[in-house]
Amino acid sequence: MPSRSASALTLLVVSLTLGIPAGLPAQSPTRVTTRTTTPATTPTRQPNPMGVIPVLEYHLVGDRESRWSRHRDRFAQDLALLHARGYRPITVRQLVEKRIDVGPGLSPVVITFDDASPGQFRYVRRGETLVVDPTSALGIWEAFAAKHPEWKGRAVFCMLPSATEGHAFFGDKGIQGQATAWRLPKVRYLAEQGHELCSHTLWHANLGTMSDTGVQEQIARAQLAVDSAGTGVQMRTLALPLGIWPKNRALLRSGSWTDPRSTRTTRYTLDAILMVAGGPSPSPFDPRFDPMAIPRVQVVGNALEQLLDRLEATGTRYVAGR
Ligand SMILES: [Zn+2]
Repeated sequence: MPSRSASALTLLVVSLTLGIPAGLPAQSPTRVTTRTTTPATTPTRQPNPMGVIPVLEYHLVGDRESRWSRHRDRFAQDLALLHARGYRPITVRQLVEKRIDVGPGLSPVVITFDDASPGQFRYVRRGETLVVDPTSALGIWEAFAAKHPEWKGRAVFCMLPSATEGHAFFGDKGIQGQATAWRLPKVRYLAEQGHELCSHTLWHANLGTMSDTGVQEQIARAQLAVDSAGTGVQMRTLALPLGIWPKNRALLRSGSWTDPRSTRTTRYTLDAILMVAGGPSPSPFDPRFDPMAIPRVQVVGNALEQLLDRLEATGTRYVAGR
């Protein structure tokens, strides 16, 4: 990234470093911002139900750009860019069930968040009440949706219930000001807002090194943790931790685990597996689409804009018909 000294990216990074609000056109001489002025709806696009669909992958969202972190201002620009280019969010569930209801001439995008960090969903106190931190990814999403009602609550949160260092359902033990007691209310809130609850195992296990029992325990106990939030949501999508497959892949479809203490058995069924890379996903109408191995695009640097440019130039993006 630093070698592109004259690029728009560098200008953008400089503006971010200086703390200039990235949404102000006068301060952001990047193509990202100027293009947000294109009409949001372009009904002239021909339907292309066999086109590809970007499944985007975010990790940390915060105050810096790195391999695993998106600056919050750039995240806001990503939403604006996608919207301006005629993309609308759908969940993984909608993708695998072929429920692509984005409207004619528009294209679906799936936006996934891995690892359940506070930067994705942080609460802050406003007097007696808790509100979604407007500087967290969810806060940015909600502010964007308030201005653009067609941008629905359809993010996909691939969560860890019991990971350390603030990755237990978006932060605990005071990390980034997040109380342990807020974890399950956060899970409930996401479900109520329409976002998809997605599994990322119990604590980011390397499934490739685990026994069959261990794999099933990781998936079943993640579901049990979500159950305790009382949403009634059965997670059907799993993002593979580290992109590593278990030795026995059949256990990703279904399995069960019996708690040795209570002797209670928990069963699970999954029908969508997210990989960590691989480019945009084939359309679910394309015979090459495999819901048990859905590729994703990591949003780093200018990768998103470059991808959207390429899909536009090659006419390969999915476009919904009537
Ligand atoms: Zn992860």
